[in-house]
Amino acid sequence: MPEKFNNKTNGITQRRFLLHGNPLLANWVTDHIGPEWITDLSQISKLKIYADDEKAQQEFMNIKYQNKVRLAKYILEHNGVEVDPRSIFDVQVKRLHEYKRQLLNILHVIYLYDQIKMHPEMDFYPRTFIFGAKASAGYHTAKKIIKLINSVADVVNNDASINGKIKVVFIENYRVSNAEMIFAAADVSEQISTASKEASGTGNMKFMLNGAPTLGTMDGANVEIVEEVGAENAFIFGLSSDEVINYENNGGYDPNVIYNTDWEIRNVLMQLINGTFSRDTELFRDLYDSLLTTKNTDRADRYFILADFRSYAEAQKRVEEAYRDEKRWAKMALLNTACSGKFSSDRTIQEYVDDIWHLDKVIVKNK
Ligand SMILES: *Cc1c(COP(=O)(O)O)cnc(C)c1O
Repeated sequence: MPEKFNNKTNGITQRRFLLHGNPLLANWVTDHIGPEWITDLSQISKLKIYADDEKAQQEFMNIKYQNKVRLAKYILEHNGVEVDPRSIFDVQVKRLHEYKRQLLNILHVIYLYDQIKMHPEMDFYPRTFIFGAKASAGYHTAKKIIKLINSVADVVNNDASINGKIKVVFIENYRVSNAEMIFAAADVSEQISTASKEASGTGNMKFMLNGAPTLGTMDGANVEIVEEVGAENAFIFGLSSDEVINYENNGGYDPNVIYNTDWEIRNVLMQLINGTFSRDTELFRDLYDSLLTTKNTDRADRYFILADFRSYAEAQKRVEEAYRDEKRWAKMALLNTACSGKFSSDRTIQEYVDDIWHLDKVIVKNK
């Protein structure tokens, strides 16, 4: 009975994730296109005419800056770490799970840290890498990844030789109340799950609504986000779902080939077990082994982190390049907000009403 099955694209509510969470931007949007977007997010596409308007771009990015100042204050209070709101706020907040690949992100941070140490004169646009995640109670590997992020943060944030070019922050107790503030302040939305593993994602939509371009794989609703905003307003990288599934079914992927031929990646992995980030050289041994050694039914690097590493690093370079061009970035950011109309949960619910529930509409009179 295939007619009894169908899919609905997820959505989020603009009342919480823009109106309540980002009042500065909400007011700006209303000033430009009126308040209809609050109950009909498709109206937000009216912002598109401002994409090339320099005044609108400046106002948009100034609001982003003020939201970054607000988050920087929260980070100083909660983490005791000073972050520069002029740096790129590169954000990955979501449940901690191996398929979501927070490990890829933090390994890339280590890679950048190595690059800056090796080439101190290198042009590098300052970045603040912000993580937020909870690990479920018994998920040992997830907790180890949180430990690694915090250990890298301790080393990088306190290394005066890199002049604060990289800061790493793990925000505790990630939850809707602080998430609102985090989305509002994000420059880059990290949506880097192994292709084929993420059913949809909704965090990606919250970032988009708040004007943060997606840095991501062609997975889950990232595919639809790219459809709406255009590939030129996102940073896509990595294996496709078909490629991942093909490797899973037929083999042919060996991370050791990458480890043995790419010395920079090898260097990053060695730092997990040579005491760089922990005096206890065994602390991150399991993470290291999981990337290189097949154990029972667990294939080495199940989530294709090494396979996607170079492609991810290259996409991150494109992010930096785009961010340096202020007008280009402002246009991208603004277009992400303007093209987010599809991702309202109002639209999702309406589709259920139309296709499945067949309910009649009740008009509620306001006063
Ligand atoms: C939106 C949201 C999620 C889901 O995030 P994904 O990136 O889609 O996994 C999880 N936790 C909180 C607190 C959220 O607001």
